[in-house]
Amino acid sequence: MVSRVVFGRGSFDQLQDILAPKRLNVKAPFIFLVDDVFKGDSWITSRIPLAYKDQILYISANEEPTTAQVDELVDQIILNHNDGPSGIIGIGGGSLMDLAKAVSIMLNNKGGAKDYQGWDLVKSAAVYHVGIPTISGTGAEVSRTTVLTGPDKKLGINSDYTPFDQVILDPELTRDVPRDQWFYTGMDCYIHCIESLNGTYLNAFSESYGEKAYELCKNIFVDDKLSDEEAQDQLMMASWHGGMSIAYSQVGVAHAMSYGLSYLLGTKHGIGNCIVFDHLEDYYPEGVQLFKKMKQKHNIVLPKGICADLSDEQFDVMIKVALSLEPLWENAIGKNWKNVITYDKLKALYQKM
Ligand code: NAD
Ligand code: ZN
Repeated sequence: MVSRVVFGRGSFDQLQDILAPKRLNVKAPFIFLVDDVFKGDSWITSRIPLAYKDQILYISANEEPTTAQVDELVDQIILNHNDGPSGIIGIGGGSLMDLAKAVSIMLNNKGGAKDYQGWDLVKSAAVYHVGIPTISGTGAEVSRTTVLTGPDKKLGINSDYTPFDQVILDPELTRDVPRDQWFYTGMDCYIHCIESLNGTYLNAFSESYGEKAYELCKNIFVDDKLSDEEAQDQLMMASWHGGMSIAYSQVGVAHAMSYGLSYLLGTKHGIGNCIVFDHLEDYYPEGVQLFKKMKQKHNIVLPKGICADLSDEQFDVMIKVALSLEPLWENAIGKNWKNVITYDKLKALYQKM
């Protein structure tokens, strides 16, 4: 679990006080990995407390993080600084959260990031790392994984060293998120709840967090009676609770199939989950019904026909990636999932998207 958290509007300004005692020496910099959407946005960037050799690296979130990108960032940090960093601070959405987690691990572990995709492969503790989310939904700020696309798979580095040492939850930072993106990333949280609460891995720990996140999502996306500020506060906490819920259970059908889309077509996580989930009424009837209502209420039009021109070989790649995520299927369907989920069933579903 994340060991230290602050929550509150304006809490971003506590960053300097939080970092000061963690500085190893004046030559050991803090490296800020910041979503490049904030480049030139002084409202956020002017509040980043730079001193000595500290450095901001602006990074695009247009594409999801890759193992090669993590390796390049690590090389760049090592080459540009004589001393190893005092800490890595990620500022942005799930993409930047994952990059900060992965870079902090790889600074202290030999080899390439692809060698650590899987469960509990990390040998040495990561460099001190801090997460500051600027969009809510993925739960990446709280989770035990950092999802990376590698040369042959999209899979997280799941380990006890992955979670942040410190998270700053300042809902005010999410105020300028574009409306569509707010919905897609928010729905990632909603789908985490549905997949966790309807999964065979469910237990009291996951259920208690999942139910709370589900209730908050309904306040925000269905009842819609909150002020903008209340909605920002609640979605940030929904994201946290949704992340905690899947930390002790698993996601399900939407995530497995969305990983396939992402691997083959580069479809981003939030929108990819929405595209898939829209067709999963056989698996999550009530969840999908409410999803369609929320989609309509917020005037969201999802892309159609994204698989229309795919070749048989491409379907093959996508279906193999989806089917390789065995724990997700086992959680969704049960131990006998291989008798229920067939190649042809998945192909027919993808063809509808
Ligand atoms: P993102 O980080 O990809 O960002 C989405 C878009 O929103 C980007 O264009 C970004 O620039 C913009 N944005 C972010 N904050 C903004 C702000 N305050 N104002 C204006 N624009 C802003 O989106 P995401 O949905 O948060 O993250 C998706 C990523 O998270 C995927 O790579 C996925 O694999 C990963 N993920 C990780 C976990 C985990 O547990 N580690 C869980 C779910 C998803
Ligand atoms: Zn997700």
